[in-house]
Amino acid sequence: MPHLLDAIDAQLAPWFKARGQGAYRLGQVRRWLFGQRAGGFAEMTDLPQALREELAGAFALWSSEIARHTQAGDGTEKLLSTLADGGQIECVLLRDSEPSPGGRGRSGRRTICISTQVGCGMGCVFCASGLEGVTRNLTTGEIVEQMLRLQRLLSPEERLSHIVVMGMGEPLANLDALLPALAEASREDGLGISHRRITISTVGLPKAMRRLAEIDPRYRLAVSLHAPNDALRRQIVPVAEKISLAEILAEADHYFEHSGRQLTFEYVLLGGLNDSPANATELADRLAGRTAIVNVIPYNPVAGLPYRTPSLAAQRAFRQALEQRGVSVHFRHRKGDAIDAACGQLRRRSRVKSQESRVKS
Ligand code: SAH
Repeated sequence: MPHLLDAIDAQLAPWFKARGQGAYRLGQVRRWLFGQRAGGFAEMTDLPQALREELAGAFALWSSEIARHTQAGDGTEKLLSTLADGGQIECVLLRDSEPSPGGRGRSGRRTICISTQVGCGMGCVFCASGLEGVTRNLTTGEIVEQMLRLQRLLSPEERLSHIVVMGMGEPLANLDALLPALAEASREDGLGISHRRITISTVGLPKAMRRLAEIDPRYRLAVSLHAPNDALRRQIVPVAEKISLAEILAEADHYFEHSGRQLTFEYVLLGGLNDSPANATELADRLAGRTAIVNVIPYNPVAGLPYRTPSLAAQRAFRQALEQRGVSVHFRHRKGDAIDAACGQLRRRSRVKSQESRVKS
């Protein structure tokens, strides 16, 4: 059965037409999906019963099953989904209680973090998602499905306000499926989240950055640097063997010229590896002259990997060294630690557990 979320309009418009139904039917289904957060066609009560049944027989609304749903005390919720072919992905809802300027009132930010691939092929040495490589790209429907599933976790008065494409996978390696999914997110008759509240995070693939700038530069772009020079970056990010920082920064600048949006550079802080004040100073010099913010992410430990989170004193020293050179710095607060909210961790834990139970039985 075709997955409706793969291409809602392109599938439904001709389908309704063939049944002599007005074009407004498509709008009704969209409102149920994105506005009313419906869980199935049966709930779409302003469509005739027979039509709802026919829809349910013609299209699958959901293509995955929720294997696990975890909640942390800070409001973070995480879903582990099993896809039709057995692959597993994760996505996360983050709640921020501080009211954001111009934001959604008292309820604050509601950010979802979504995946674009099963696994990841980039192999960053500290990251759980890439430990077993990449299995495949997600489809558009599988990406939209994460958004709708997470939206259904909200209470009626809560609204999604931001999307970060920072789950499993390298988004720029799957732009063809990702862009139509993000278009559903930003459309007024979709989730209605404006482009500037949608951030795509990339390891820095120059050709794909160029392509994104050409197709749609309205999204915020975050580029994972993790090192101020190529020699150190090669130890942390394997694709740096083939891609230099100079190329990445040139494409980031090009994207900025097209988008006018402040760039974000991400930097995972790994104790003893890339966290010295000298590293910070070199990074600041490298980024000088750019309208950018550096998003520092203290390492979130992954079981079995030999990296460590720097001490608070080391984190503070790194921050000061950046700020002294005029860099805008943001430290990412760790949320949802108790539920393994960092990408790839829940899937990994669930696999390790099922391996353990297999060994035991
Ligand atoms: N492939 C994309 C998205 C990765 S997830 C990219 O490389 O940007 C978003 C960010 O989280 C990336 O900067 C990634 O390097 C970082 N990250 C991954 N695992 C982490 C961990 N265990 N601790 C801290 N940050 C991590």
